[in-house]
Amino acid sequence: MTLDELIERLQDMREQLSDGDVEVLVVHQPGYPLQEIISGVWMPEDDQSGSCSKCGRILDHGECPGCGWTPDGGKDKEHFVYVVANGHHHTASPYGPRRAFDETN
Ligand SMILES: [Zn+2]
Repeated sequence: MTLDELIERLQDMREQLSDGDVEVLVVHQPGYPLQEIISGVWMPEDDQSGSCSKCGRILDHGECPGCGWTPDGGKDKEHFVYVVANGHHHTASPYGPRRAFDETN
């Protein structure tokens, strides 16, 4: 699921609720469903202006003069945004609802 799709689905849910002050949990492991709180979201820092991923040479911009590696080369597909799950809710059950997997839209 892309970031835009996630935002859209969350927005749809928000419009169905009269109040947005609702805790969001992550449910995972369909075979043995567990639920966890979300502590934040994270995106890896862009290290493209730092050093060459191949030979370690310090780069200003663009192609590495040492080995020819380019910051954009082949890295696009590895770009992720993370929702960070961080343990059990202090009052809710650690076990997640199995229905969440069957009824996902
Ligand atoms: Zn290099």
